[in-house]
Amino acid sequence: MSSKELDLKHVHDTEFPLPAEMQGNVAVTSLSRIYNWSRRSSMWPMLFGLACCAIEMIGTAASRFDLSRFGMEVMRATPRQSDLMIVSGTVTKKMIVPIVRLYNQMPEPKYILAMGACASGGGPFKEGYNVVSGIDKYLPVDVYVPGCPPTPQALLYGLIALQKKIDGQSLANLDDVPWYGVGPSEPAPIPILGPDIIDPRQMDLIRRQAELAARGEPTYVRELPPVVKKVKAVPSKVTKAAAAAPAEIAEDPRREEILKRRLAALARKRARDAAKAN
Ligand code: SF4
Repeated sequence: MSSKELDLKHVHDTEFPLPAEMQGNVAVTSLSRIYNWSRRSSMWPMLFGLACCAIEMIGTAASRFDLSRFGMEVMRATPRQSDLMIVSGTVTKKMIVPIVRLYNQMPEPKYILAMGACASGGGPFKEGYNVVSGIDKYLPVDVYVPGCPPTPQALLYGLIALQKKIDGQSLANLDDVPWYGVGPSEPAPIPILGPDIIDPRQMDLIRRQAELAARGEPTYVRELPPVVKKVKAVPSKVTKAAAAAPAEIAEDPRREEILKRRLAALARKRARDAAKAN
């Protein structure tokens, strides 16, 4: 390969100055620099998208912006061959479980780019009952790209920022490249999908709060409003006759008694279920 085809300034280490006439043909460099240069120039992103941001990611890979300039055009449909996870879109509580599992299946070294407001912090759906308010609650994010959605140019800027981050890593510093340390790296804990998503790392805190709640003490988390015991006196099936005389139904003296008996039956059922669970 001639020096015109291989631009040596990318691999040349400026710590070792060379005479100008030699710079086109000779490069003096370090192992770290050439290792980082080859890694950052052949990042293979994982092929998946979650919501509208994914359309912009697809646009970035198309000919107008052309991810292949970064050696990233080979989007892999398997985590085993991917170096980069671009989280592009809204992360729901149901989806975070497979996302963390896929991340754990990627080989080291691996990187995460949170694309858009949703992946970075929940975005417009932050308060949604089913939305994770930021992928970084579960996975280590390397680069955040703001926007709703970010443009392809913004994504390219984020990818260049990631390349700069990789350039700054040194083989001599194990904190930079922990995957070369002793033993396998720790997998990210896979969240548990229940009535709400549970982060296994917070299991102790959740248990403590459950104990406090069972004793009727304040748990210092946002509580549901207390149950309103007065139920509106509208029957689920309104017959023609009942519809004709709603005042009589509302004034039925047996309703209070029936409601009390129902609540008592519900309490007995809950107690039975709790005993069974123990
Ligand atoms: S950040 Fe905006 S464009 Fe991206 S997934 Fe969320 S709502 Fe859609």
